[in-house]
Amino acid sequence: MSDYIQDLMIEVKAKNPSQPEFHQAVEEVAESLILVLDRHPEYRAAKILERIIEPERVIMFRVPWVDDQGEVQVNRGFRIEMNSAIGPYKGGLRFHPSVNLGILKFLAFEQVFKNSLTTLPMGGGKGGSDFDPKGKNDNEVMRFCQSFMNELYRHIGPNTDVPAGDIGVGGREIGYLFGQYKKLRNEFTGVLTGKGLNWGGSLIRPEATGFGAVYFAAEMLKTRKDTLEGKKCLVSGSGNVAQFTTEKLLELGARVLTLSDSSGYIYDEEGITAEKLEFVKELKNVRRGRIKEYAEKYSSAVYESVDATADHSPLWDHKADCAFPSATQNEINGKDAQNLLNNGVFVVSEGANMPTNLEGVKLFLSEGILYGPGKAANAGGVAVSGLEMTQNTMRLPWTREEVDQRLQQIMKSIHETCKVVAERFGTPGNYVNGANIGGFLKVADAMIDQGIV
Ligand code: NAP
Repeated sequence: MSDYIQDLMIEVKAKNPSQPEFHQAVEEVAESLILVLDRHPEYRAAKILERIIEPERVIMFRVPWVDDQGEVQVNRGFRIEMNSAIGPYKGGLRFHPSVNLGILKFLAFEQVFKNSLTTLPMGGGKGGSDFDPKGKNDNEVMRFCQSFMNELYRHIGPNTDVPAGDIGVGGREIGYLFGQYKKLRNEFTGVLTGKGLNWGGSLIRPEATGFGAVYFAAEMLKTRKDTLEGKKCLVSGSGNVAQFTTEKLLELGARVLTLSDSSGYIYDEEGITAEKLEFVKELKNVRRGRIKEYAEKYSSAVYESVDATADHSPLWDHKADCAFPSATQNEINGKDAQNLLNNGVFVVSEGANMPTNLEGVKLFLSEGILYGPGKAANAGGVAVSGLEMTQNTMRLPWTREEVDQRLQQIMKSIHETCKVVAERFGTPGNYVNGANIGGFLKVADAMIDQGIV
């Protein structure tokens, strides 16, 4: 580690104590950016990286609501407005009991680079709450969303900050949030993305992150004159990203062997078919059940529950060619990464944000596998959110084919940027450097143009 990064990390840790995920995200990016900062002293002089690390604004608020038993509940709400150099703040809302300031800051930080890579004019932000939607009925979720928006509405707007979904925030939650925003502001505007199709949403938005992660994997394979056809794939998660990753993989002739949730995972040796995927969608999106039920329904599958004390995840210890981590951060540690490599995995395309810890990332890079980091591989979701904003402004919806084609084009362009930038900075094949530096340059130049603000 260079002296510059060492000093930077000492300061980041001192100023942002107890935020390990944020430290991790900053360290990974800083290690790539040292290549740029050495060549461009003007970025260092303008303290661009130091400024990108500091959110433009952090909003933290009380979210009180009443549950069905009449009991008052108090949650904490957040919005991190990280960087608006190239467009309005843009990034999802996460509702999960693990949510805290550090996790949202890491996500907002990653979002700045990701949004820049999409080629669309979007700054970076992220928000959410430690509210747990699990086990809550629709009315409770609605009351929570309304209370959350009662504060958030004054900080967001179609030209200021445009939130979307993330873990625990899907179509249902976006609907309740949008309804409350509209009531408070008395205006119908594209202030959130991921909206319903008949009230301003875009076709392909729900599919976009998963489809995009698969398109990115296909682009990486193309550099080795290979395709996804017949490839054995491990997918984690069973939410939005995992479902549509699986759908696109099946469409392209790959075999998907696993899915998971926070309780455990299933391994289906015969592979997940389109029909089995429909069962998962109904199970997760309508009945809101657990993935264990998959193994109860299909005898070709076995279920294993999570062992919180284990030093690795058995999901990543199966023979396969590709891995699509699509659940949450740090779900692949060093041991998992080694298991993946030992089992023949040579493509990793991250649907989730920062699913691989620093040790795992270093292993993938040193082995020279096709490793697509989240901020590049999962940018399809925010890219189609950007397209939803465009359609809202034009008041004109595009067809499914048109949006999908644009998504494919954007994923190709992100891949190309990562590849070319990695080569230009002397690390061919290193998509981590390509994504970090490629995303950084546009934001850094905009910040220089706009002065010290
Ligand atoms: P989702 O629909 O809520 O699904 C999340 C899935 O991951 C669920 O199966 C969930 O299991 C599992 N999971 C969540 N937290 C977990 C934990 N701590 N340990 C183990 N499993 C956990 O969310 P999503 O939208 O698919 O998001 C998944 C990942 O993709 C996240 O990292 C998110 O930031 C990233 N991402 C999403 C988008 C998007 O457009 N939605 C875009 C870019 C990146 P349970 O049901 O048991 O909680």
